[in-house]
Amino acid sequence: MNKIKGDYHTHSEYSHGKGDLVANIESAINKGLTEIGITDHGPQTFNFVRLGVKDAEELIEIKERIEVLNKLYPEIRILAGTEANIINEEGDLDVPDYILEELDIVAAGLHLLILPQSIETALRLVFDNRFMYRFFPGKRARIREWNTRAVINAVKRHQIDFITHPGYKLDIDTYKLARICAQEGTCLEVNARHGRLTEGFVRAAMETDVRFVINSDAHLPASVGKLEPALKIVKDLGISDDRIINYQGFTGRHS
Ligand SMILES: [Zn+2]
Ligand SMILES: [Zn+2]
Repeated sequence: MNKIKGDYHTHSEYSHGKGDLVANIESAINKGLTEIGITDHGPQTFNFVRLGVKDAEELIEIKERIEVLNKLYPEIRILAGTEANIINEEGDLDVPDYILEELDIVAAGLHLLILPQSIETALRLVFDNRFMYRFFPGKRARIREWNTRAVINAVKRHQIDFITHPGYKLDIDTYKLARICAQEGTCLEVNARHGRLTEGFVRAAMETDVRFVINSDAHLPASVGKLEPALKIVKDLGISDDRIINYQGFTGRHS
């Protein structure tokens, strides 16, 4: 049987997570993993208080700590990354390209919990998805199109390794996104933390040639490597192991 090598989406206390880097790494080793990604939230993650790194440069500080930890823990390959926010329709990220280039893993996601940097983003991303989508069903198609366009533009314009939890809390056309991701070499995440909610998107995406990555999205060290709900989804849908990068080990666009 093939074996999962790594979990490539975990948070530490540098962003929304509770544990320090060492706790995440030791938890991964205890689960038998040989690779782990540290992907703290980009700086614009916000919900009354800051939930992301304090600024994009902090991702480089984390990377420097990870370089030291890689020497201390030779049994595991520790990858430095981020889960950047897609912050507008053009697909801009809240981490500049010169920092992304330094990282081993560039993940990006569309989140409601961000501090909008423009009126357009406040209206289209936050207000529409939080309020209009819920109460005005007639607006849903337009909101879904906007969301899809934002993510597709991000995939086209940046070297993104994978899109985190597509469709989670924000409606997107995953088939359309998956087609572009397949062309651009970007994977789609099957997120273990959001469990069954992701099944519909995987079903739509699997019709394309896109590849998948399975991640815990752990915010606690104990959750690192907890991939079972996502593994169940891909098994139930009959997705072959060679389409899931966790079995081969991480060969990102930056690492
Ligand atoms: Zn996320
Ligand atoms: Zn996350």
